[in-house]
Amino acid sequence: AGPRVPLIAGNWKMNLDHVQGITLLQKLAWTLDDAKHDYRRVEVAVFPPFTDLRGVQTLVHGDDLSIGYGAQDLSDQDAGAYTGDISGQFLAKLGCTYVLVGHSERRTVHGEDDALLAAKLKAAFRHGLVPVLCVGEGLDVRQAGTHVEHTLGQLRADLADLPPDQVARLVVAYEPVWAIGTGEVAGPEDAQEMAAAIRADLTSRYGDDVAGAVRVLYGGSVKAASAAAILGRPDVDGVLVGGASLDAGEFANIVRFEH
Ligand code: PEP
Repeated sequence: AGPRVPLIAGNWKMNLDHVQGITLLQKLAWTLDDAKHDYRRVEVAVFPPFTDLRGVQTLVHGDDLSIGYGAQDLSDQDAGAYTGDISGQFLAKLGCTYVLVGHSERRTVHGEDDALLAAKLKAAFRHGLVPVLCVGEGLDVRQAGTHVEHTLGQLRADLADLPPDQVARLVVAYEPVWAIGTGEVAGPEDAQEMAAAIRADLTSRYGDDVAGAVRVLYGGSVKAASAAAILGRPDVDGVLVGGASLDAGEFANIVRFEH
């Protein structure tokens, strides 16, 4: 995938309490033999529930792990009367590098629209977090054949008036909703088609340098058996893994996809 360092990201969703989260992370570090850092051609990050983040921070820094972490969502606001919300400044203080924005489960279950997601992207950058912006079409759109227009429409609406230097730092995850948690994996060619379309769209609006810096991930029922073919495509710069990230051995095999 060119000069971009591939990102292998694990979205734990609402799984693993703070004790179970630490146990999984310890197993993952042990399985990857983190001390040898021999997977450093790729970057690894986990996205635990908010309540696990303090424990993850302590383990990652205490054991000097080269595994990064981020949150699954953030508020568009920085502080105040927003009961139940979590601010980007809290996440930054917990050492988060990344934050997911606009996961399809946030868009559908919580009704998050593109205007809110644009504000969340701004909030992430305000606090030095790298947003992993999730975009992708549902089954009806895929069957109608308008998945590229649909996904690029989300991307444009979410990026809104973000300045080019921030766009360059962004990670975009293409996640066809029909492939999330369903066991249905889009083929490597489908992942490449959309990743290339996303990059071409970014090139037309921000130029080659910005578009060439953005990492585009694929997500949707990725397992160790399917990872290598997807990651081998030129515009795919990583994977966002849900279910399979809850199994340390399976996730480690995705990280070691070249072996
Ligand atoms: C996800 O939640 O981002 C995801 C891709 O889930 P799964 O791998 O379980 O389909």
